[in-house]
Amino acid sequence: MTTTMPTQIESESHRIPNRLANWLGELWPSALRAQVDRACADGWQIDAPDAYCPRCGATVGAGGYTTDGCAFCVRDRVAWDRIVRLYGYREPVSDWVVAMKFVRQWRWGLWFGRHLASQVRDTLTSGNTLVCPVPMYWLRRWRRGFNQADLIADTLAKRAKLTFAPLLTRTRYTAPQTAVVPSQRHRNVADSFAAIPADLTGRDVLLVDDVKTTGATLSACARLLRRAGARRVDVAVVAVAAPHGDDFRKM
Ligand SMILES: [Zn+2]
Repeated sequence: MTTTMPTQIESESHRIPNRLANWLGELWPSALRAQVDRACADGWQIDAPDAYCPRCGATVGAGGYTTDGCAFCVRDRVAWDRIVRLYGYREPVSDWVVAMKFVRQWRWGLWFGRHLASQVRDTLTSGNTLVCPVPMYWLRRWRRGFNQADLIADTLAKRAKLTFAPLLTRTRYTAPQTAVVPSQRHRNVADSFAAIPADLTGRDVLLVDDVKTTGATLSACARLLRRAGARRVDVAVVAVAAPHGDDFRKM
């Protein structure tokens, strides 16, 4: 296994849309803030860490989980150590995620990344943690113009003073997970990711995506990072869909 350090393999290409997003954000600073302010005025706030299961991210409330997880995940294996999220996949955050992905409101990616940085700060066990986005297949990225996980992860890394490290690639086109029934989602993404040649022995990695639904994508990615030697893999996502809830079909 080669020992290419992740800092050396950072692609410049992901930074082009990031710079563009920052530039657009400067031109459009108030619309997003107004939406957040409106939600906060209605009582919305980012979830406290004890509002959800740290193993699967389900909303269970304080006391709804133990070190073995919650009722939703206690029988499941999870490929990561801990999950950090901002909120459940429901309004208003679901609207903001949709606006980011499908209405090209890229600035939400920066906002999510900044706030996830605050949330992960207390859970990190190493100041040397690598921040890895879930990759997007080049064709989908080309169509969308950006990978939202890149935007979120890059902003998170900068804000938390960690290293942005795209350690994974997508090797084949897959149907969007949202178009696949939940029971088939593990099969849909199987063998669709690869790790770049890097020795992660002893390293901690924070895997970043926008939404966790079944966790099939995150599991596939986390396993590859472990196989490359990662000591610890944590997950940071903007939102987690309610297990077995309607969100699984809406996504
Ligand atoms: Zn759980």
